[in-house]
Amino acid sequence: MMQFKDIIGQAATKSKILQTIADNRLPHAIMLLGPEGNGSLAMALALTQIILCENPTATDSCGTCSQCVKSQRMIHPDIYYMYPNIKRDPKDKEQLSSEWIKEWRQAIATNPYINGIDWINSLSNGENKQGNITIGDCHNVIKKLSLKAYEAKYKVQIVWLAESLGPNSNSLLKIIEEPPADTIFILVVENIELILTTIVSRTQIIKVPAVEDEDLQAGLIAQFNVQREEARKIARVADGNYYLAMKMADGEENTNDVLTLDLFKACMRKALRNDIESVNNIQSVVARFAELGRERQKNFIKYALFFLRETMMLSNGMPSKLEGEEITYAQRFTPYLSTNKMQKIALFLDKLHYYIERNANPKSQMLAFSIRMSNIIAEKEVEMVTY
Ligand SMILES: [Zn+2]
Repeated sequence: MMQFKDIIGQAATKSKILQTIADNRLPHAIMLLGPEGNGSLAMALALTQIILCENPTATDSCGTCSQCVKSQRMIHPDIYYMYPNIKRDPKDKEQLSSEWIKEWRQAIATNPYINGIDWINSLSNGENKQGNITIGDCHNVIKKLSLKAYEAKYKVQIVWLAESLGPNSNSLLKIIEEPPADTIFILVVENIELILTTIVSRTQIIKVPAVEDEDLQAGLIAQFNVQREEARKIARVADGNYYLAMKMADGEENTNDVLTLDLFKACMRKALRNDIESVNNIQSVVARFAELGRERQKNFIKYALFFLRETMMLSNGMPSKLEGEEITYAQRFTPYLSTNKMQKIALFLDKLHYYIERNANPKSQMLAFSIRMSNIIAEKEVEMVTY
């Protein structure tokens, strides 16, 4: 890991990058831009490896020369990494990416599709912390890049989730605009709105879209030995996010559909009848949710969001990815769920995911969500009259 051949899908982006290299017009500041789980970081690593490789082919690095071996082990002296991080000890004066290099190598070797929140959670032992890239890190970069390359043709600076730079990116403006000789910056970005426009304008943007459903399925089958039908089902929900897909392919049988159905039924009943049984049903859903463990709780919420989104499509006469029993249930629910209500519920489901991801208490969060959902269903809506 990591060569172009290891990246899931993204054929068009790969060939665009390879063509740029073949034409010898690789820009010195590149922004790989696209949503979580698309493989941008893997792409950055594969790109770095091929430009340092001693025997590259037209399609990939060789994977065996000494440059490749060092790239793959993430110990190449001319490759630098910056990534969101936290202080190792709250009493520390400095906070630097390099302090976490061991954890970084380990995490990326395990899964180059990791997302920012899981990375930070792994550094903070699950404590809810916000990671960032400090000004100290930026100053280090400027210092290191002003030195000559140790052994490669280029020095490469990879900045993973450059959003985490915040205003500190100001200090990098000059070096990105006029980098020292043979230096390449690769910024990996998910949300371009969080990047200073002055930085954006100094980089060449290469879009890395969400992974195609077919590629995602093929990846799951090849990498995790998932059955074809199961892979297809996961791809529907993962929506091009391979990181999410990998987690959903954890091998355990999931009951996301059953629990989602029970959640919807319980909230409907609470909204329409508000009896003791409806309260009991909600409590039972909350208890089952709490038992799942955090990763599977997140998977469940993603499935519930998928079900809600596709129910919305179905009720508006648009093509929906629901199938079989899902359609039956969606049709049973829609008389009580206007598009407006479904949008509101989706917003709270998103928030529920946000809090669970940040290690909030699952029981109280799920209970609060169920009550909100019931209240939304019970709301009276003004009839829209059209003339
Ligand atoms: Zn090589």
